[in-house]
This record gives sequence, C-alpha cells and structure tokens, in this order.
Amino acid sequence: MTRNKLRLAIVGAGPAGIYAADILLKAERNFDVSIDLFDHLPAPYGLVRYGVAPDHPRIKGIITALREVLDRGDIRIFGNVKFGEDITLEDLKKHYNAVIFATGAVKDASLNIPGAELEGSFGAAEFVSWFDGHPDFPRTWPLDAKEVAVIGNGNVALDVSRILAKHVEDLMSTEIPANVAAGLAASPVTDVHVFGRRGPTSVKFTPLELRELGELRDVDMIVYDEDFDYDDAARAAVAGNKQVFVIDKVLNQWRQREVGQASRRLHLHFFAKPIEIVDDGTGKVGAIRWERTAPDGEGGVVGTGEIRELPVQAVYRAVGYFGSPLSGIPFDKKFGVIPNHEGQVLIRDKESGEPRQMYGVYATGWIKRGPVGLIGHTKSDAMETIKHVINDLGNWWTPESPSEESVVEMLESRGIRWTDLDGWHRLDEHEQALGSAEGRVRVKVVPRDEMVDISRGDAA
Ligand SMILES: Cc1cc2nc3c(=O)[nH]c(=O)nc-3n(C[C@H](O)[C@H](O)[C@H](O)COP(=O)(O)OP(=O)(O)OC[C@H]3O[C@@H](n4cnc5c(N)ncnc54)[C@H](O)[C@@H]3O)c2cc1C
Repeated sequence: MTRNKLRLAIVGAGPAGIYAADILLKAERNFDVSIDLFDHLPAPYGLVRYGVAPDHPRIKGIITALREVLDRGDIRIFGNVKFGEDITLEDLKKHYNAVIFATGAVKDASLNIPGAELEGSFGAAEFVSWFDGHPDFPRTWPLDAKEVAVIGNGNVALDVSRILAKHVEDLMSTEIPANVAAGLAASPVTDVHVFGRRGPTSVKFTPLELRELGELRDVDMIVYDEDFDYDDAARAAVAGNKQVFVIDKVLNQWRQREVGQASRRLHLHFFAKPIEIVDDGTGKVGAIRWERTAPDGEGGVVGTGEIRELPVQAVYRAVGYFGSPLSGIPFDKKFGVIPNHEGQVLIRDKESGEPRQMYGVYATGWIKRGPVGLIGHTKSDAMETIKHVINDLGNWWTPESPSEESVVEMLESRGIRWTDLDGWHRLDEHEQALGSAEGRVRVKVVPRDEMVDISRGDAA
C-alpha cells in the first residue's frame, strides 16, 4: 500500500508523547506527518509537571526543552481530553492512521501488608500529586502526624521524605501552590522514618538525591550503626559500582555527624521489612511493625524473625507506580503496562490464543516499559516505537475522516472544552505572573475548571 501522509494521534503529552512526536517529525521518511497530541490534563508535560518535586527546578527545567518542541507549532495539542471518556479507539480509527499511547503511570503500586488501608496510610503517588498541585486530587492533606514512616528505598521515597521534613520556608522559592504551602506550614512533624528491607548498598536512591537530604536546614540525618556491618556481597558492591560507592560514602559521613540540635530528624532504617501498619484502636495508624532482615550472602536478604515496632501516626507507601488500563486496549495486570513488542501493541488472538500485533496501535514511555527510569529514558523508548510506526506503513488504519478539521468538529459536537497550545501559553503566563507577584518563578493554578477557563480565555 502506498501512503503519502500519516495522521497520527498520540495520547499522553508527558515527555514520552512529546519526544515521540518530535522524533517522528525529524525522522527520515517518505511520507508527510500530521500529529495531534491528546492529554487528559489541561496542561502538558505529565509527571515533569505533576511528579518531579517542586524543589528540583533543574529537572523541572526539562519543561523548557519539551516546550521548545511544542512551540515549533507543528504538533496540535488537545488538552482536557480523556481517552476512554471523551474519545475512544473507534473515534481514533475514524480520524487517524495510527495511535501511540504514552499515558504513563499515576497510581501507587499496592503494598499488601495488614493495616495498609488504615486512616493515615497514604500512597506516595497521591501525596506527590497533592504537593505538585494535580487538579484531580484533594486540595487539603491531613498533615497532623508528628512521627511518620515512609516505606521504600527509591527516589520517590526520598522526595516524599524530603518534602515532609523540609521547613516550608525553604520551599517558598518554588512553584508550590498556596494550598500546599499552607498545609505544610501547619505540619507538626518532628521525625520521618524511611524503611528499606535491604541494606545500604542495595538501595535504589540516586546519589545526588540522597546527598541532598543531608543539606536540609534544621534536619538531622540519623543512620544506625547496626546497618553497616557489611558482608562480602555488600563490600563487593561498594568496590565495584561507582553509584553504590558514593551512596556508601554519603551514609558513612552521616554516621560521623553530630546530631541533636535540629528540630526535625530524618531516620534511614535498613534491613527493615515492614510487615504491618498497626491500628491505634480507632481505625487510624498508630505504629509501624517491621521484621529485621539480614544479608543472605548473595546480595538479597532473609527475615531474622526479630520484630520491632515504632509509634507513627502516618505511613506513606512509596513502593512504586502502576499504569492504568485504557478502554479497548490490552493491559498486562501483573506489570501495569500495555503488552508490546518494542512499542508495537500486542493483542491475544481469539482463535490461537497467541499474541499478535494490534495494527495501528503503539505504546511508549512508562505505559510501554513500566514505571522505572528517568525522563531521558523515554527518548530512547520513543525512538524504538517510532521506528516501527514508520516501518509498519502497510498496516496502518485507513480512516474515513482524516481531515484535521474533522477532529475539531468531533470535540465541539461533544461539548468538550479542550485546551490548545495558545491556551497553555495563557496559563503559563498567568502562573508566572502569580509567581512574580510573590517573588517566585511560578505559582501553579490547581482547580481544573480554573486552568481550563484561563487557557480558553474564559476567565472572569
Ligand atoms: C514522584 C516522581 C518524581 C520523579 N522525579 C524525576 C526526576 O527527578 N528526574 C527524572 O529524570 N525523572 C523523574 N521521574 C520520572 C519521570 O517523571 C518519568 O520518567 C516520565 O515522566 C515518564 O514519562 P511518560 O510520558 O511515560 O509518562 P507521564 O509523564 O506520566 O505522562 C503521561 C501523560 O499521559 C496522560 N494520560 C494518562 N491517561 C490518559 C488518558 N486516558 N487520556 C489522555 N491522557 C492521559 C497524563 O495526563 C500525562 O500527562 C519522577 C517520577 C515520579 C513519579
């Protein structure tokens, strides 16, 4: 089949979706391309806007590079449009030759220990969404705990711990919304305890993020000598891996520090496997119970049977993110991803039961590969997916209404208040103006309706 134009829909305007569009537009190909980028949120950039912590302006700065791609003007944006509610796979088949899903992951992976459902037990993803001003999360957060546990040994656990332990004055130069500043200012927290079931040489923190904790004003870093009795496997990890070497160095520096003067403390507990969140008798979190583990000699750990308990009034479960299923699209319930081969979506054949390519449907980013890895990884992901989109030209869909106007007509006929690139510029300028009035770079607008009104120029 010969084609001279690809009408492509990309669902998800996070880094994966934007990189995919950019890579396709720049790729060597013998057909024209016209791309529409849909996102459920009224503003683009996915987790760079709504996941990366507000006190990481250097990472948030990646938005500048993503923005340059959008500002070229060769990609149309339709924000505030949810796939599965506002538009369906059938709609996309009617208007496009193919679709790439780049819908990422926003939910918490579940932690199956007793008490995980108690009042005061929170998923880290929900807390992150709150402090990053995601429009679909509550405006208030119950920050009434003095002692808090954070379960997990990855960077999200560090983000959550840092935001909990940091004094709000030290966040006021960032873009945190007013409701978040007010919530954090009222927090009575004194101790944040981070739990990891493995040893210090097996953590998933990156050195930069770990080191940053030690620089927090009026926060003591507390590490425990009993966790540093390394076995051969741990010693080999320190000697053979630069990242582990730096992490070990940072932790050992903290062991030498004098503590006791700060009003807040951040404790790192290793070889500590949480086994229960304990009810205080009223249905609320009262304590965390964990089993002490020990190295198994092969880089893993085994339980020792020694059970310990610490009073806490809140628990944050930072054990990973998980993708969400999309209507009409295959979903791997175990890994929370769309099943795929290098980005080509796979569907189980009804007759043979074997997986086969679902023509015209692709995936990229966290929904393709799972919620691990940095923003930069979504670029290589997108390259792989785009290679197949180009090569699969003979298998693309044949849409009945491929014109660009027909999509706008469809959205209008459904009364969808979508936002476009000009709208994003309006919201962006509005947020920056709110920020400059307070001597800050930006203050985020949180309510969805307000974001949409400002974007569409409908604000009073
Ligand atoms: C708390 C946290 C902190 C992080 N910090 C860093 C960091 O410091 N440095 C770093 O490099 N990486 C960091 N990351 C990782 C980084 O955010 C991811 O690698 C990256 O965002 C994944 O990109 P993505 O485009 O696949 O998904 P996302 O960024 O999640 O984008 C997916 C987009 O799809 C949209 N969408 C979802 N469902 C639908 C639907 N049904 N219809 C329409 N649109 C939909 C969403 O609204 C979203 O905009 C962090 C991640 C988290 C969770």
